[in-house]
Amino acid sequence: MTLNPNSIEARDVAYHLHSYTNARRHEEIGPIVIESGEGMYVTDTDGKRYVEAMAGLWSVAVGFGEKRLVAAAARQMEKLNYYHTFTHKSHVPAIELAEKLIAMAPVKMSKVYFTNSGSEANDTMIKLVRYRSNALGQPEKKKIISRIKGYHGVTLASASLTGLPNNHRAFDLPMEGILHTTCPHYWREGRDGESEEAFASRCAADLEAMIQAEGPETIAAFIGEPVMGAGGVIVPPKTYWQKIQAVLKKYDILLVADEVICGFGRTGRAFGCETYGIEPDIMTVSKALSSSYLPISALLINDRVYQPVADQSSEIGTFGHGYTASGHPVAAAVALENLAIIEEKRLIEHAAEIAPYFQEQLASLGEHPLVGEVRGVGLIAAVELVTDKQAKVAMQPPGSMAGAAFAMVQKNGVISRAIGDALAFCPPLIVQRNDVDTIVEATRAGLDELQASL
Ligand code: PMP
Repeated sequence: MTLNPNSIEARDVAYHLHSYTNARRHEEIGPIVIESGEGMYVTDTDGKRYVEAMAGLWSVAVGFGEKRLVAAAARQMEKLNYYHTFTHKSHVPAIELAEKLIAMAPVKMSKVYFTNSGSEANDTMIKLVRYRSNALGQPEKKKIISRIKGYHGVTLASASLTGLPNNHRAFDLPMEGILHTTCPHYWREGRDGESEEAFASRCAADLEAMIQAEGPETIAAFIGEPVMGAGGVIVPPKTYWQKIQAVLKKYDILLVADEVICGFGRTGRAFGCETYGIEPDIMTVSKALSSSYLPISALLINDRVYQPVADQSSEIGTFGHGYTASGHPVAAAVALENLAIIEEKRLIEHAAEIAPYFQEQLASLGEHPLVGEVRGVGLIAAVELVTDKQAKVAMQPPGSMAGAAFAMVQKNGVISRAIGDALAFCPPLIVQRNDVDTIVEATRAGLDELQASL
């Protein structure tokens, strides 16, 4: 395809290096340029409208084009466009948002620390955990255990937490002191005749063996998403979190819940921790916190973390960390209004109510010859594609099936996301039954087309 040299697409190719994009292929095909959004829909510069079944990047909870968030941003910009929170300064939006998050937290939390992205939140978590161990006089207690296929971001440290080869391979990662334990994907990792509970026990035993091998006194924290998102929407097997938490308690290891996707309603409760009975010491949140209208993220920490950090002995020095835009007043004001909308429109309750329909309709794709597994919880799901249901194998090269299916579904007017050999779905929380029908029909048609092409 040759692009008109003056077109917006050609200018994108000329000047813009994209994330997670094959650059040479991009030079050939150019971008889809999204120009506007409203509710469940986005529209590109050719006027084609799509159902945004991924809520952008798992994030636009209240839907696109919400005027109340525009007004909240404008009001705050008029009043105080910027201020920081270093060296005893503060501002009202950051204070109110911190108070709100502590009130919403599913377990007793002590303080909120603001950052600007999920990666920054998790990167900051590592620094807080290290600082705490030093403050406690346990300098050997620094290692952090994450999971294979976990996704925690892309900065050097948060990409190290991420358990995906593509985020490590060409970046000389993971960095030292970050370990990855078993991925809790029962369909893929469970053995013949092994029950879900037995598989969960094996995951916990693997974790314990790793702790033992490394030396329990060297392990500071464990991080996990209540439901893994970018690793392929992996829903934990029954009893998994309860068993993992028992191991962490036994060895005095902090539990960090990465709620960047699950937070604010995605699993049908306010937090994934509530859905799975997780009691974290630290939670990281972003995405639906502001519905991604502006970048903002946060860490919620309990007293176990806060108190040693607060002591700040002269040996350790003050917590030498912070971003220019930490708790940015405009982003914080937008987040507060976004949380107010989620509450007033009862979007978490709505997510819980519509989730069974969403999951059942997607599950009906399980009968399709190209579908190996449909998995999900609340309003997040994935459809795993295979060419052989029994052997659970997909077309070579890996990812080619989902890539092809993704393109066909998108042509049918629905934006999903290809992850490995799966198609992921994570619609705005405002999704209605007719939207679910559109998403499932477009996907079924895409899969039929893919099958016909094989
Ligand atoms: N944690 C999780 C669970 C995520 O899904 C993501 C982003 N998809 C991140 C962290 C990183 O967030 P960001 O892209 O804002 O840095």
